[in-house]
Amino acid sequence: MHAQSDKTMAVIGAGTMGRGIVQVFAQAGYDAYMFDMAPEALDSAGKAIEKLLHRAVEKDRMTAEDAESTRSRIHPVSKLCDVGTCPLIVEAATERLEVKLEILQHAQKHVTEGGVLATNTSSISITQLAAAMDHPDRFIGMHFFNPVPLMKLVEVVRGLQTSDETTERTIAWAKEVGKTAVPCNDSPGFVSNRVLMPMINEAIFALQEGVAEPEAIDEIMKLGMNHPMGPLALADLIGLDVCLDIINVLFRDLGEDRYRPCPLLRKMVMAGRLGRKTKQGFFRYE
Ligand code: NAD
Repeated sequence: MHAQSDKTMAVIGAGTMGRGIVQVFAQAGYDAYMFDMAPEALDSAGKAIEKLLHRAVEKDRMTAEDAESTRSRIHPVSKLCDVGTCPLIVEAATERLEVKLEILQHAQKHVTEGGVLATNTSSISITQLAAAMDHPDRFIGMHFFNPVPLMKLVEVVRGLQTSDETTERTIAWAKEVGKTAVPCNDSPGFVSNRVLMPMINEAIFALQEGVAEPEAIDEIMKLGMNHPMGPLALADLIGLDVCLDIINVLFRDLGEDRYRPCPLLRKMVMAGRLGRKTKQGFFRYE
């Protein structure tokens, strides 16, 4: 295993989030390794990043030289061992506990002595994942938002065992890639989804009860609360299956009725109307 410089990091999982995380680190001067078990995911991540860099140059938001050097710092790898050892590894794979535990067990061997292993999970307990690690004090949640290159926030989630030093280093990394890092403690849904998902769920209850049409619910929340998107359109963007999973986590782990998933949300997921990705959710997409 080859050790690399301090300006090296790796991301595991090259899906929607992983590719964005790789891009922002590469733009900030890091050699960013991108590992995925699915070759097609690596391929489509490479194409998606290329498209964004191309557009940034076209729109004068980036020089052609910067785009070229960013490209040269992105290293897609199809074997985890090819990431060598890095001071920071961010796991951004499928949101399933057993998948993450297995990946993290392997990934921790690729973290430089004293380095940090982070997860981009939206809803799995950081404390629980950390407990399965050799160095739980150096494990943390680094929760980016979609689309990563545009969204400013990184919610830095401290597990019960996470050290202050790990938190400080993670905040520094987030700042280095141009993000605003806001720390919080590990708790179901952290801050972002604990507040967002009940709002989305309530909007779906309002729809189910015939309080208003979907367009009206979204318009009221947009104009009245100054939200850039209405809750139903946002749910369609996130994916209704993802929303249901997260609400289920809040309901199960916080144990209060106010987090009960709306039956209409369950129905939509059962019908395969998952939002934008299936071209139909609360709204239709061409
Ligand atoms: P995604 O389905 O787009 O990508 C997941 C990737 O992980 C896939 O390419 C898959 O091939 C890969 N993968 C699965 N098992 C693997 C393994 N064993 N080894 C290597 N790669 C593996 O998912 P996503 O939307 O990018 O979400 C990734 C993580 O980020 C999840 O934990 C999710 O909760 C979190 N998250 C998602 C969003 C969002 O809006 N999509 C926002 C914040 C956080």
